[in-house]
Amino acid sequence: MPAVVLNGKELAEELRHDLSVLVKDLKPRGVVPGLAVILVGEDPASASYVLGKEKACKELGMNSFDHRLPADTTEDDLLRLIASLNQRSDVDGILVQLPLPAAIDAQRVLRTIDADKDVDGFHPVSLGKMLLGEPTFLPCTPYGVVKLLEKAHVPLKGAEVVIVGRSNIVGKPLAVMLMQAPYHATVTVCHTKTKDLASHVRRADIVIAAVGHPGTITADMVKPGACVIDVGVSRVDDATKVKGFRLAGDVDYDAVAPLASYITPVPGGVGPMTITMLMYNTVYSACRRHSIPFPPRG
Ligand code: NAP
Repeated sequence: MPAVVLNGKELAEELRHDLSVLVKDLKPRGVVPGLAVILVGEDPASASYVLGKEKACKELGMNSFDHRLPADTTEDDLLRLIASLNQRSDVDGILVQLPLPAAIDAQRVLRTIDADKDVDGFHPVSLGKMLLGEPTFLPCTPYGVVKLLEKAHVPLKGAEVVIVGRSNIVGKPLAVMLMQAPYHATVTVCHTKTKDLASHVRRADIVIAAVGHPGTITADMVKPGACVIDVGVSRVDDATKVKGFRLAGDVDYDAVAPLASYITPVPGGVGPMTITMLMYNTVYSACRRHSIPFPPRG
């Protein structure tokens, strides 16, 4: 039987609807969640992500404060802007779009964001709390993956999860989240120095690919009945498309889908969940900062 397709677009819309109701309820209390988005330079992919975030804020009735800075912005100027946003009472979340120009120390910039407004979940305080299992902002892409797995009721307790990729924004936080309560999965993390990647992936009840190279996960590597989550997004030249390219994940979708139990498409799988979880974190932040209860988080 072919895999059930985990539709991230649909789930994202469902969650955004719930969020819009919450945002509406906050208004009479004088609370409008606000997200400040900073983009340095003119990288087209980054600009398009930022546009998506601003659009999502507007659709949900939230405030979006946009700061588009030239590529030659100095680190000091950026740090000053963040310091001023840290002070603003109408800003609940601050997001600096990565990557930053090479001359700017991204880690220093991320550490300057007030941890109480770190809706991307990249601040060392957020990551430390996550590691300790304390309530905090969860990084948006891993959080979106977990939401997709929960929605489909994919069994996680004791499941063998193999994550391919160990980045700070996807692989590592996802491993931490899934090994802990309430999920209790057994997690293996693979990377470029892993010996015999296929042998690890073949053991997995759940494979999560966050690599950035199309075709990394092939059908012969996947156990029949495994759940396959594809985080990867790469642009692949395609003359048949108006833009001259198409988006591809890390998984050989056509070959893997017939033998998997669940699979995420690219696009339309994990991608739409990332921005939604950013909105979720921003509303959570607004509630927290105004001591308003937020619905229990998964
Ligand atoms: P990254 O920082 O480049 O990390 C890639 C990871 O994959 C690294 O840990 C690397 O290992 C590992 N890797 C690369 N080639 C490998 C191979 N052949 N075998 C095993 N491991 C390999 O990338 P990232 O930021 O985590 O993003 C990964 C992908 O997810 C990208 O396509 C990105 O566009 C996508 N992404 C999507 C979303 C979304 O919203 N859908 C969000 C974030 C990222 P080493 O550590 O040894 O180098």
